[in-house]
Amino acid sequence: DISGTDNKGFKGHDMLAPFTAGWQSTDVDPLIIEKSEGSHVYDMQGRKYIDTLAGLWCTALGGNEPRLVDAATKQLNTLPFYHSFWNRTTKPSLDLAKELLDMFTAKKMAKAFFTNSGSEANDTQVKLVWYYNNALGRPNKKKFIARAKAYHGSTLISASLTGLPALHQNFDLPAPFVLHTDCPHYWRYHLPGETEEEFSTRLAKNLEDLILKEGPETIAAFIAEPVMGAGGVIPPPATYFDKIQAVVKKYDILFIADEVVCAFGRLGTMFGSDMYNIKPDLVTLAKALSSAYMPIGAVLVSPEVSDVIHSQSNKLGSFSHGFTYSGHPVACAVALEAIKIYKERNMVERVNRISPKFQEGLKAFSDSPIIGEIRGLGLILATEFANNKSPNDPFPPEWGVGAYFGAQCQKNGMLVRVAGDAIMMSPPFVVTPEELDELISIYGKALRETEKRVEE
Ligand code: PLP
Repeated sequence: DISGTDNKGFKGHDMLAPFTAGWQSTDVDPLIIEKSEGSHVYDMQGRKYIDTLAGLWCTALGGNEPRLVDAATKQLNTLPFYHSFWNRTTKPSLDLAKELLDMFTAKKMAKAFFTNSGSEANDTQVKLVWYYNNALGRPNKKKFIARAKAYHGSTLISASLTGLPALHQNFDLPAPFVLHTDCPHYWRYHLPGETEEEFSTRLAKNLEDLILKEGPETIAAFIAEPVMGAGGVIPPPATYFDKIQAVVKKYDILFIADEVVCAFGRLGTMFGSDMYNIKPDLVTLAKALSSAYMPIGAVLVSPEVSDVIHSQSNKLGSFSHGFTYSGHPVACAVALEAIKIYKERNMVERVNRISPKFQEGLKAFSDSPIIGEIRGLGLILATEFANNKSPNDPFPPEWGVGAYFGAQCQKNGMLVRVAGDAIMMSPPFVVTPEELDELISIYGKALRETEKRVEE
């Protein structure tokens, strides 16, 4: 994702590079990463950094897992490419589909479709939902509801679903069929005296009001990340999704779980849907699906949706959608191996064993006068800097408190994600206790330096 600012305080979304296709800043030397090892990366000068965001929330198995390299090499030597069109496909693609359908137990899933990224997968979701409603003879049920601060991708439609203004401005987005409802960030948005339960009830009511205002017959689907990632790591209150799902179900609206960040153990459950008892109709996967060693995303489709799309009585014609690299055999082979490793090494259990050190070690800094909130679960966490511990008293943006903290981390050998005054972390699932000690120690040092700077 490219929302927010980088460690030097430059806006991620305006970093068009003069000489590469990347998103580098045009007026400072980029940090060029050359090598990775476990939870660390190294720059061109050989400086070592603990990579607290696992790349972009994705290198779950760390930086040098030889089995993933072997899986890719073996597949490259056998069949580097074949497509998945016209009833032709490859074994790795079929095996991966079967594996994912078996693994996702929060709700039965019947079909998998592969993409190259999370953005493409979310675009695919929109087409699937439209096709589904067309097949059911209700072509006006077309609108999507996403949430403020959600991140669902960068293509035109997935950026529309995204609830971050930076992804909309200058692009005539969001598209008119996308609506946004509340972000479930209790600390920031609860009313005085309101409990988490009451807050969740109010948000569900707001969602229902929005649906009724628009007309339930026009609302096709609701999309949500179990825990918002790029929008600031926002775990919802415990009963939030129960209440939201009741509303969505009442009006025959499909639920899309965007599991791109949360899946495969990040929260301490195999999928984010397991953590919050979400029963989605459609699921989006990417990132840790291959531990990011190859680009791949996926869409899982429930039997209810798939049956309508594939029904004999459906007169719409084929669901004409697909990418050259859908089900790329090398990406699928790597993803299969990543999943094998997650299972063999009981990665969910490992995350649960190691995450208290990460969560408690960092939350111990909550008393800092410049920290408003430290929030997270499993191996995902955000720190939000604020004056007087208040969400309503942010530091002046020109102070660049978050960016300063990020720069102190980098100076001390640690890379964090900075977005305004929020700092985000999601270390690899394989992060060791020693690496966590290092992470916590550098965090403490950077915090002291930032406190001093704010006092000045
Ligand atoms: N959905 C979520 C929750 C994400 O965090 C991201 C990327 O950060 C995406 C979708 C888009 O994935 P990609 O960057 O692979 O297109």
